[in-house]
Amino acid sequence: MNAKSLSEKGSDPLGSRGLTPFRAVELPDSSWRRAFRRRLLSWYRRNARDLPWRRARDPYAVWLSEIMLQQTQVATVRPYFGRFLEAFPTIEALAAADEQQVLRLWEGLGYYRRARQLHRAARLIVRDHAGRFPCDPEAVRRLPGIGRYTAGAILSIAFGQRRAILEANTTRLVARLTAYRGDVQSAAGQRLLWATAEAVLPRKDIGRFNQAMMELGSEVCRGRAPRCEACPVATLCRARLEGLQAEIPRPKPKQRFERVREAAVLLRRRGRVLLVRCGDEGRWAGLWDFPRFRVEQTEPEAVRRELVEQMARLCGLVVRPADRIKTIKHGVTRFRITLDCYRADYVGRARQRPAAPELKWLRPNEFDHYPLSTTGRKLAKLADGKPAPRRGRS
Ligand code: SF4
Repeated sequence: MNAKSLSEKGSDPLGSRGLTPFRAVELPDSSWRRAFRRRLLSWYRRNARDLPWRRARDPYAVWLSEIMLQQTQVATVRPYFGRFLEAFPTIEALAAADEQQVLRLWEGLGYYRRARQLHRAARLIVRDHAGRFPCDPEAVRRLPGIGRYTAGAILSIAFGQRRAILEANTTRLVARLTAYRGDVQSAAGQRLLWATAEAVLPRKDIGRFNQAMMELGSEVCRGRAPRCEACPVATLCRARLEGLQAEIPRPKPKQRFERVREAAVLLRRRGRVLLVRCGDEGRWAGLWDFPRFRVEQTEPEAVRRELVEQMARLCGLVVRPADRIKTIKHGVTRFRITLDCYRADYVGRARQRPAAPELKWLRPNEFDHYPLSTTGRKLAKLADGKPAPRRGRS
């Protein structure tokens, strides 16, 4: 079934020289595709932002930018991208680096799993592909952290392969162009949207076309307030024709937040402060942090008792908790965390073996060499080397 067979009979409601938007259940016909590509690319020529990762087609730089941009704003990524490439200018340099160095450079960008997977993938590329980013789609998909979208982006932008892409911005754009009202993340939704993204690809200059799709999705077909009046493909858009821009894509069910209380401990011993390495499965896998755990109690004395028990379990140490020095509120995924930070004094070793994978006693001026969680970095500023005062009020 082609687009025309489903269009409004006998009319050209958008005055677009006989072209009619198509629905999600059909694929665009050749005249729609031609008009869409022409308008999109012409708009992109005039409106593309000058982003550092667009200046070269080096597969490593494209790959790095795609990983950094996952769930992260362009403005946040810019400085990280430059610093990272300066420190690790090649895949070999990244592969040779210590994971701690990689995480230190990634610190603040969040979703640290991305950095660890990038590093692992660099080592695999050196081992299996002599340090050259592979252009074989199967080999690319086998690398850690690379899914269908990221593979499509790298292969099209860096190697000019005819691969479609579908990330958050292009998913929204394609869903609106086709007026797809279903769940865009469902299997059926993904099948339809990927089929459409593939159908609209031009024969050449695919990387540029894909970047133009992302740019239009990000800058014009925005999530909350699409700028349809400035959209170069407005007359081809089914959602606009039907006035459905605000309803497509279907809003996700509201995230339910869970409030939790945690405690962190600034434990001193002979001018050094204790840090623990976060386990491989946690939120901050591979990073360092102050001993930290969830607390169930709220009454100050009960919290202190819990803190003593948890320090024995996590670090295998006996401590004497002192005053609460700071409370930090922050969010991680669905958790809204209230983190109470306590000073404590070292008393001795406990009988338990520590549950933490690694412990280090550091001088405060050494913190800078270690990748810390965001709250860990805030606490590090408080670690000024003064002995903990005697117990105070919470
Ligand atoms: S017309 Fe509006 S809804 Fe349609 S693609 Fe353009 S910006 Fe998006």
